[in-house]
Formats: sequence, C-alpha cells, structure tokens
Amino acid sequence: MINPTPTPATVLGWPRQGPKRELKRAIESYWAGRSSAAELDSVATGLRADAWKLLADNGIDEVPTGDFSYYDHVLDAATMVGAIPQRYRDAAETDLDVYFAMARGNDAVAPLEMTKWFDTNYHYLVPELSPATTFAADASRQLAHLAQATAAGHTARPVLVGPLTFLLLAKAAPDAPADFEPLSLLDPLLDVYAEILAALHDAGAQWVQLDEPALVLDQPAHVLDAARHALDRLGSATARPKLLVATYFAALQDAFEVLAEAPVDGLAVDCTVPENVTAVLEHGLPGKRLVAGVIDGRNIWTADLDDKLAILRRLAGQVDDLVVGSSCSLLHVPLDASKEVSLDDELRSWLAFAREKVLELRTLATALGDEEAATPGLERSRQAIGSRHTSARTHDDTVRAGVAAVSDADAHRRSAFEQRREVQQAELGLPLLPTTTIGSFPQTDALRKARAALRRGEIDQAAYDAAMRDEIGAVIALQEEIGLDVLVHGEPERNDMVQYFAEQLDGYLATTHGWVQSYGTRCVRPPIIFGDVSRPEPMTVRWWQHAQSLTQRPVKGMLTGPVTMLAWSFVRDDQPLGDTARQVALALRDEVSDLESAGCRVIQVDEPALRETLPLRVADRAAYLDWATESFRLATSSVDDTTQVHTHMCYADFGDIFAAIDDLDADVISLEATRSGMSLADELHTAGYGKGVGPGVYDIHSPRVPSADEVRELLTRAVGALDARQVWVNPDCGLKTRRTDEVRPALANLVSAAAAVRATV
Ligand code: GLN
Ligand code: ZN
Repeated sequence: MINPTPTPATVLGWPRQGPKRELKRAIESYWAGRSSAAELDSVATGLRADAWKLLADNGIDEVPTGDFSYYDHVLDAATMVGAIPQRYRDAAETDLDVYFAMARGNDAVAPLEMTKWFDTNYHYLVPELSPATTFAADASRQLAHLAQATAAGHTARPVLVGPLTFLLLAKAAPDAPADFEPLSLLDPLLDVYAEILAALHDAGAQWVQLDEPALVLDQPAHVLDAARHALDRLGSATARPKLLVATYFAALQDAFEVLAEAPVDGLAVDCTVPENVTAVLEHGLPGKRLVAGVIDGRNIWTADLDDKLAILRRLAGQVDDLVVGSSCSLLHVPLDASKEVSLDDELRSWLAFAREKVLELRTLATALGDEEAATPGLERSRQAIGSRHTSARTHDDTVRAGVAAVSDADAHRRSAFEQRREVQQAELGLPLLPTTTIGSFPQTDALRKARAALRRGEIDQAAYDAAMRDEIGAVIALQEEIGLDVLVHGEPERNDMVQYFAEQLDGYLATTHGWVQSYGTRCVRPPIIFGDVSRPEPMTVRWWQHAQSLTQRPVKGMLTGPVTMLAWSFVRDDQPLGDTARQVALALRDEVSDLESAGCRVIQVDEPALRETLPLRVADRAAYLDWATESFRLATSSVDDTTQVHTHMCYADFGDIFAAIDDLDADVISLEATRSGMSLADELHTAGYGKGVGPGVYDIHSPRVPSADEVRELLTRAVGALDARQVWVNPDCGLKTRRTDEVRPALANLVSAAAAVRATV
C-alpha cells in the first residue's frame, strides 16, 4: 500500500551547543570580554543554520525555530513578554547584558533563581512576577530566527513556551503581596501572546508550537479551567498561525480532554507514555493534527522501530493528520552518536543521539507510506535491538542471581536505630554535637591539572596517585588543625560524584562527546548504563585507607547512592528502573562491606537526587519511593550495628519525602538548612525525626565566611528544636567549589561555635 502523501516528521526542539560546544565557547568568550556581541551573534547564526540544514537534509519537513537560546528558553520567554524585573534593566546597558544579568547576575545584581525543568537534568531560570509586572511583546528574537530559517528555504515552526507553563513555572517577586499568584496575570499575558502570534503569522509562520508541559502535572480544576480559557482566547484570534500545543514527560490524564477540545490546530503528544496513546485512540482528534511523539527525546537508545511503527499505524487509523515526532525537545540528549568512535560498532549501534533520532523519525515516516522503502532503517533498528537483547554484554548471570537472591533481611540493618545508637556511641566516642563535613574539599587547579595530565599521558598513574595522596594528606592535616571530629579524605580523585563510580563499574559506559546542556553554558556528559551493573574491584578503599592511616580520628567512607547513580546517568530502557537500582545497590553494598572490613566505622552514601527523581504525577510516587529507599538500604545494610551510616541531600524542603527519608534508616543525615535560617530543625521536630541529623550551618554556595556567632545562632536554634544528642554540625554541602582560604576560617568558626553551644546544653 503506497500512501500518496508521505507522512511528515519533525522534532520539538534541538540541542543548542553545536557539535563542539561552539556556543558555550562563544558565550564564555563574550562574558570574558574577549569577543563582541556581533561575534557571538555570528557564531549563533552559523550554528542555527547548520542545525536546520542537518534536519532538512535528513527529511525533517518542518524545522523548529526560536528554541535556540543563549542561555535558557524560559528566560527567553520572560524577555519575549517583557517580564524583566527593574533591577536587571538598571544593572546593564544593552538588552543582551540585561539578559545575561538575569541568567547569571553581575556585580550589581544576583541572578534569577534557577531550578530543574520538570524531572530532567536541565535547569531553567524562574521568572519573577508581581502585580506590578506589565507585559510587553518583544518578538524580535523569534522573528529573526524565523526570518533566518525562511531565507534558507526551510519551513519553520517557531517554538514558544506557552503562557500557562510560563505562569505556572514563575514565582512571586519578593515584593509581591503574600497572596499573589502568577496565574492571576493570565489575561494580560494572553494579550501579549496574541500579539506575538499575530506578528509571527504576518512574518509567514504557518504553524507555531506552544509548549505546555505544565499540563502533565497534577493540576487543580482551576488551572485546567485557565488552560481552557487561554486556548479559547488564543485560538479565537482571526489572523493567527496554526497552533500546535506540545506537552511531554508524563500522562496527560484530565488535561487531554481540555486540549482535544480546544480550538487549536494540533497537539504534540508524548507517545512514549502508553496512557497518552490510549487517550488519543479512545478520544480521537477530529480536525486536528497529531504530532505523535514516539521517539523518546530523553534517552539515548536506538528505538524498536517495529514497535513504534505499530503504534503509529494504530494512531493513523484514528487521526486525519499524523506527523511523526520526538516526544520532547532533543535538547536532553547529545548530538551525534556516530562521533563516539571509542566505542565498538556493536555498542554504538545501540545508541541514538539527536542525529540518529532524526534518522529514526524519517524511517518511521517513510515506513508508514511504503515499508519497503524504509527497509534499511528498519533493519538497522532490528539488528541493534536484537543484539542488545541477546548480548552477553547486557546480561550478567552472576549479577542477576545476586539480585534474585536478595531477601527482605538484606535490605534491613540488624538492629533498630535506638540500639545502633548506643553501640555506635560506645565505638566512636564522639562528643555531643559532633563536627564533620560533607565530603569534598576544594578542587584546586593543581588537582584538575593533574587529572588532565594523566588523561594526556603527561604523567603516569603512579605520579597521579602520589599527587592525590599528597592532597589527602593536606586535607587531613587541615581538618586535624581545625579540630573536626569526623574527617573526610576530601574526594580529590573524583572528577564527578557519579562519573567517578560509573568509570569503575561494569555495565556503565562513558561517552567522549556526549554533552548535554545542564544550564546556561554548563554541559555534562552523563554516563550510560547499558548492561547489568557490578563492581569488578574496590573503588574507594585504598584512598580511604590512606586517609585513615594519617589520623587517629575516624575518617568517613564516601559513596554515591543508587538513586543518584541512576538519576545523573542515561538509564536502561529494557528493564524496570527499580531492577537497575537494585544492581547498583548490590555493587555499592560490596564497596560498603569492603570499607567496613578495612576498618571504616562511618560510611556516607550521598543521595542528593532522591527528591528530584520523584515522578511528576503524584500517583506514581509511592512505587518510586519504595524501590528508591529499598535500594539505599540494600546498599548500606550489610554492616554491623557499630558502623554508622550517613547520608546527605542538598535541600531543605524535604516535607513531601519525609517518610522516605526516615525509611532510608540512615543513622545520620546531613541536609541544607543555612539559607532557610534553620527552620528545617523545627520541621524535623514536628515530623518526629528521631535519628541523627546535621542541618547545615555554612552556606557553601557563597564565598562568604560565616562568623562563629552566626553559626552559634543557627546551632542554638537546632538544639532548641531537636534533642541535642541528635544534632551534628556540618556545612550545607561539599566544599569542592570553595577555596581553601574560605573553607579554613569557615570550618574553624563552625568548630568553635559547636564548642560554645556544647557548653550550654
Ligand atoms: N560528598 C559529595 C561532596 O561533598 C556530595 C555532593 C552533593 O551532595 N552533591 O561533594
Ligand atoms: Zn549536597
């Protein structure tokens, strides 16, 4: 059956940095004053041209425009609607510098707050709104990109953060009245969006994509009403482009009907979520285009195209105007797997980065009309899926047997916390209000240089190890001099808290060029879990041993927990996440046991990602927290009662995961508390938290050295709210981004404040 009009294919957005992170370099050079705004613009213009050409050359019919950003698409939306707080307008001369002032601050102002974009590892800047905000349309950036694409002969589809998502992600400005809600600004904002849509229409845009991912969160009825109202208003304009409303990352549930009935022309639906496919099949989309997001925009695996094709065929039976698409912007994946030449052909064939996903989209679109013509692409997928499924590299019987043999008892400590506390106290003999740090000490230039030199072969492993041992010696000496009670080795040998372990675990692979934007110009290269995970040999023991050999005081062992190991990697899509977590947990459990056998009495397992990995839909959270907490306990429960297990998380608002934190059954948890002025201690008390807890008393995000008096005040508050026997004294987080000349006086003040408060309780 040959379909006369071939099915189109598109992507919802594209990585911005360029094949060699050219954008990062150009922006940082502009910031450093080494190049002009015009030079930056010319690099950016070139990158856009190349990206669209790649898309068009590979059969993408409509290219997204306006998603390209110097920093962040939510910040772009804020400037597009004129939501620029006055202090930024005052803080810089040009529009570009005002933009960067909002993004990263300057001498005169602090930046806007930054937070995670849904449950991804991308961070956006939080717009600040108040009743005094007056929106004003500035479509110049969108129009310029549209014009550039059109001039190059492309059919362009401008991409805008939608008005609802914009307001739902915004926060009240500090000077806004307490009861102010950003959503109350919907009507004036819609006026501005209508104006921008009209301008894009006049400039020749046939379609405009409005991204409304906030509709996949659990929204109360009044928000769904607001969505109805917004789409009615924008859809009823007479001179407007066709509107494609894009949602992604989770099930639409109630919002599906709102969208399906809205007077818009198309929906982009995340069809990697089976419920969304069912919703379309049951409801149909009469008169609307469906961009069926079957290719996962958040993961890096070659798709099972036969499976995707089957979904598309079912959808094609229900929808008049079907377009094959990515589930979300491809911003969340690296650019080009074919550049990973250090991987062998088999491994590489399993990977689909942004460029490979475009080929998959094209294959699917072709196959819908003429399967024969799509044979090469379909065959490639079949081969990759088949070899990944059967490969000995993804399946390790020993690991599987280990996971299968896990009993409930393995995930529980031998005794309850109260008993453990007694024996640990006897073993460690720590004073009341013991002092410690979170793990890392300043990552000096010398350390980074040593790592680079090792990578380039300029020094050998022995020389590198010697440099690390020297650094550990210096860090131990510093902590003894300051008088901390539980010491750390300082983590000098770790490039990153996930990558370091990923490099040593079987089943993980590292990429060479797999950069993904984390925020602004900061990019990360997440490791990839491709097979069953195990630990061929100890990972941290020798470093810990060296540190402990230098001091009589206990040195904490330091590991990254299973949830965080998953959250900051690309994970397998061929087994449940909980299964992968259990494998990582067992690998860590081996390490915990080895540390204990080597004499380590305090072991910290960091889980900063526990909260950010919470599923977007509340109904999915209990199941997640179940495997998340179980895998932590599995990693840490092999030890004797005398061994003290610590954990650490980088936030203060733990309210919604309080029970989960308790379920970890760690003897001590350190959390961030400085910025909130220790209100955390009251919350912990109210929640009835009875185990050890170190609410942070030193804000490590700032170069400021807190005085002993400030620390004493925070601690006094902590021991007022909690039982003094519970309280530990520590910074908010690791010290790796600070300088030694800040850390030394800050920790000295922390130790003296602890002594002062100890004398009062
Ligand atoms: N142990 C790590 C450190 O001190 C913890 C970092 C984190 O919580 N993100 O750097
Ligand atoms: Zn932290």
